[in-house]
Amino acid sequence: METCIFCQSNGPFTSISHIIPESLGGALSPVAPPGITCDGCNQYFGQKVELPALASFPFSFYRLFNSIPTKKGKMTSISATLGRIYASGIPGLLELAPRNHTILEKVMTDEITSFRVVAEVTEPLAVCRMLLKMGLELLAKHLYDVAVSARVQDAIRYARSPTRGEHWWFSVYANPEDVVEVHQGLQKGIPSIEIVERGGVLCSALLLPGITTLTPLERCNPTPLNPDDALMRLIWAVC
Ligand SMILES: [Zn+2]
Repeated sequence: METCIFCQSNGPFTSISHIIPESLGGALSPVAPPGITCDGCNQYFGQKVELPALASFPFSFYRLFNSIPTKKGKMTSISATLGRIYASGIPGLLELAPRNHTILEKVMTDEITSFRVVAEVTEPLAVCRMLLKMGLELLAKHLYDVAVSARVQDAIRYARSPTRGEHWWFSVYANPEDVVEVHQGLQKGIPSIEIVERGGVLCSALLLPGITTLTPLERCNPTPLNPDDALMRLIWAVC
């Protein structure tokens, strides 16, 4: 008997999906076999969690730099100090739509040669729940008994139906120089995900080239982060 890890409904289920969604370039990532997540939960996560999460840092950045189009085939874009930055269709190559004519002229005459983008997690709750879903599916694929044990039930519930006011957290390490290196072929450009143990706590580590996230799959206090490391950020999700 197949039982959905998120809502405990019984199968058979038909949907098979990549643990790292294709919208994050996960076409080559492991597949969550049927029997882990029911069709209803998959649909729920796709619409209510994945959609808003993809519009937020760090996923928006990853999609932008890798020119991964939306499901409707549109190129992603984000706002920057000089205007709007669009994916060009070629990974690593970006297009700028300048905010005004003055900026356009300064760019054309090389007076402006760099720009800033705001790397803010605008949808921390959706991003956190999406990270949890990916981690829990991977856990269920490899360690099914652990995925249905009491140990990760808080994480399962937070991913599928968090209660108002409830917190979870994850950390993001993003280095713009690493992102650029990926496109110079110095780093591998394929996303991957793994289950790791940190201080006795099960976590999932998602490695998007240039961006790493760590998400605890058990309720715990945030790990002490190195305060000198400006590239590491702790993000709280609040329902
Ligand atoms: Zn379900």
